[in-house]
Amino acid sequence: MTDTDVTGAAVDLEVPETVEQARVGFRAWMTEHGAELEQFRRTGGEVAEIFERLRLLQRMLFDAGWIRLGWPTEMGGLGGAPILRSIISEELAAAGYPPPFSFATQEVLGPAVAEFARPELAAHVLPRLLSGQETWCQGFSEPGAGSDLASLRLKAVAVEGGWRVSGEKIWTSWAQLADRCVLLARTGAVDSGHRGISAFLLDMDTPGITVSLLRSMNGDDEFCSLFFDNVFIPEDRLLGEPDGGWAVTMHVLAGERGAAAWQRQIWLRSRLDDLAATGGVDDEVLGESYELLMALRVLSRRTVRALSAGDPVGSTTSLDKLAMSTAEKFLFDAALSGAADEVVLGSTETGSDGAWRNDYLYSRASSIYGGAAEIQRNIIAERLLGLPR
Ligand SMILES: Cc1cc2nc3c(=O)[nH]c(=O)nc-3n(C[C@H](O)[C@H](O)[C@H](O)COP(=O)(O)OP(=O)(O)OC[C@H]3O[C@@H](n4cnc5c(N)ncnc54)[C@H](O)[C@@H]3O)c2cc1C
Repeated sequence: MTDTDVTGAAVDLEVPETVEQARVGFRAWMTEHGAELEQFRRTGGEVAEIFERLRLLQRMLFDAGWIRLGWPTEMGGLGGAPILRSIISEELAAAGYPPPFSFATQEVLGPAVAEFARPELAAHVLPRLLSGQETWCQGFSEPGAGSDLASLRLKAVAVEGGWRVSGEKIWTSWAQLADRCVLLARTGAVDSGHRGISAFLLDMDTPGITVSLLRSMNGDDEFCSLFFDNVFIPEDRLLGEPDGGWAVTMHVLAGERGAAAWQRQIWLRSRLDDLAATGGVDDEVLGESYELLMALRVLSRRTVRALSAGDPVGSTTSLDKLAMSTAEKFLFDAALSGAADEVVLGSTETGSDGAWRNDYLYSRASSIYGGAAEIQRNIIAERLLGLPR
């Protein structure tokens, strides 16, 4: 694929002025392309297969212009308000299609790279992310630096033309499939805390990086350990300022706790409908699950609107993240109580391919990734409620 394939393609799509117009237009497009889209309705299969299938869906949405809405034109987007991006996953889910694999990455890492990368770098890499030509991973956590991220130790030493990086990352999702990594490294003194961290956009095929798979309890090889042995990062790959990586970190976490929660609630809502259709769960439990999802929807809608308007979201995304993990765990606990065979045995009697089992197990992670629930509670208590530490 050439550069012009992803950056310069002209599309027929006129940028909608309102969310409602975008919704109506996208629905009409899906109806018109129903026959081509049918192949994407299928779920299940090996990770690599799902990944490839959804990459094609993403490319189709990119070529038609839909996932270029709300991104700056100089980065491969079509312009318009960022909130236009929020309806695509929602309408895909409502029509029964899964969201493309890297939608969450787009909302978590994309905005930070758009904000902090040099303009030439953003113009080069963003279209590749949006079109599905590339996937990115998030190299934040380390053994000993998860909740206490500011204590991370992966060391970046300034050298002629860039930095040399040595150390280790862990729990990096889908790094084995990633082309690039938003990486946090210590550029200040060992005890410099959050003031001595820099952020980089690193190419994953750089010599000196070893990716080692870690199997998660649902059987997927989602996680990786990354080992860095004197890895060179050119200076133009710095995001933001030297030692200014904490600002990038906060930007990424706002996306991970806020915009990603919006996308997650859409998918959770479709799973609640699936669960109700099994007929195995009490109406009262379904009702409570619905209430929790609506609370999450209202909270994350506020965040998505604020992010779109460029308003600071601050610590309020911790409310979204906590509401998300509470709703997700409640929903799949309900599945366990009402469809135990499916969850415990991964039964395929209803043709679910073990999806309930997988989703139940994955729901346990919702109160860990993006900052554990206890950490979100601490942030809410201290920064939103003003309680003592
Ligand atoms: C599915 C999944 C995907 C992930 N993907 C990525 C990724 O792509 N990139 C990445 O960098 N990381 C990723 N992570 C890692 C994730 O960010 C960390 O697991 C998380 O931040 C918690 O850190 P930790 O695992 O080191 O646990 P710890 O920080 O050791 O915490 C252990 C327990 O102690 C509690 N705790 C710790 N400190 C406090 C405190 N001050 N007050 C109260 N309780 C506390 C925590 O809440 C938790 O229950 C992923 C994790 C999961 C589960």
